[in-house]
Amino acid sequence: MANAQNSAKKRSGGAPRPSAPPPAAPRPRLFVLREFGWRDFFQRTTWLLFLFVGYLLYLLSVKSSGFIEKIFSKGIYPPLSGLVGTLTSIFNFPIAGILIYSAIIIGLFILISSFVKFFMGQTRVPHFATVLITYVAIGGVLFACFYLLWGFNYSRIPLSNSLELKIEDRSKEELYNLCVELADKASEVRANTSKIVIDDKNIFSLEGNYQACFDKIRTDYQKLGKQIDLFSKIPSTPKAALFPRVLSRLGISGIYIPYTAEPIVNTNQPSLMIPATAAHEAAHNIGFANEEDANMVAFILCSSSDDANIKYSGIMMALAECASSLNKVDSALYTKLYNEHYSQGMKNDLSHYYKYWDQFNGKIQEISDNVNDSYLKFNGEPTGISSYGRITDLLLAYRNKYSTAFRWN
Ligand SMILES: [Zn+2]
Repeated sequence: MANAQNSAKKRSGGAPRPSAPPPAAPRPRLFVLREFGWRDFFQRTTWLLFLFVGYLLYLLSVKSSGFIEKIFSKGIYPPLSGLVGTLTSIFNFPIAGILIYSAIIIGLFILISSFVKFFMGQTRVPHFATVLITYVAIGGVLFACFYLLWGFNYSRIPLSNSLELKIEDRSKEELYNLCVELADKASEVRANTSKIVIDDKNIFSLEGNYQACFDKIRTDYQKLGKQIDLFSKIPSTPKAALFPRVLSRLGISGIYIPYTAEPIVNTNQPSLMIPATAAHEAAHNIGFANEEDANMVAFILCSSSDDANIKYSGIMMALAECASSLNKVDSALYTKLYNEHYSQGMKNDLSHYYKYWDQFNGKIQEISDNVNDSYLKFNGEPTGISSYGRITDLLLAYRNKYSTAFRWN
């Protein structure tokens, strides 16, 4: 009661004291970059060291294949990639897709808005320069991580040496015989319609069964690894691309992302090469960075699979490469092969496949091919994108060594 009276007196007596103004509420801002100064710019240049580190790692990798094979490909890489792959395999969609598309959208937004603000005089030179150098620094970090997480595998001992395959000039008759063996086996596997999935137009079609196929490829790698120690690393399960049509426009059938250890497959392409592509990208994941080596590993994996669809796809991938080489050296022999050893089903599948890819021929695919070509050349693939065709040499040497292309069949 007394307290109430006192406080009433206080309130009623004397002049009212002016109260302090309330602190200003922070303005809600969706996206504001703080203004960078030259100090920020110079601090950020230290990150360019990663670019230098990346280049040093690249130089180191091209120098010593024996060292890389032992220490990296068979030592550090399998558990490292296994750990990353285990984390990303929690999700059944490609984490890399989310990261790449988000990075492109956010990156372009920041770059364009910084550019516009700079030219409208709303930001100063050091700010714009700091934004630009941040992009170069991020590129440097990614470049260095690329080698640490996977890229060293480009410099490991070539598969031909590890499998003791003798790469040498071979006659066109030998090439023809290899093609015949592949075509006859493909025809035999394709004829088993109780195991091969075809649609009502007699075209090979895995529509809707991709995940089961990708799971099986992983299981097949586990089995193959028990037979051949070189392939003993268990791969991450391949995943279907988020926007496969975008990949088709770029002429990409599959891609391996080392940062997330994810083999990603374009499932918009015809089914014919989907299992072979998944096996190829998984071969990258088990440590075979070189394109021709990854193709050869994919062929060994697919052709030894007890799943007819995977087997057929792998054989057709090898046949397409070898038949193309045959066509270049003797088109009459190729015509004979096509007429006498390709079944109608195989012809349907190939025609459907090439027709699909033909629709994307154009400038975008040309640019994408050039980028890929430069990337492969930079990483030591001597003939860039044309090295895809060199699987023919490996298959010829393999067949010569074991008298069959189907040793693990
Ligand atoms: Zn590849």
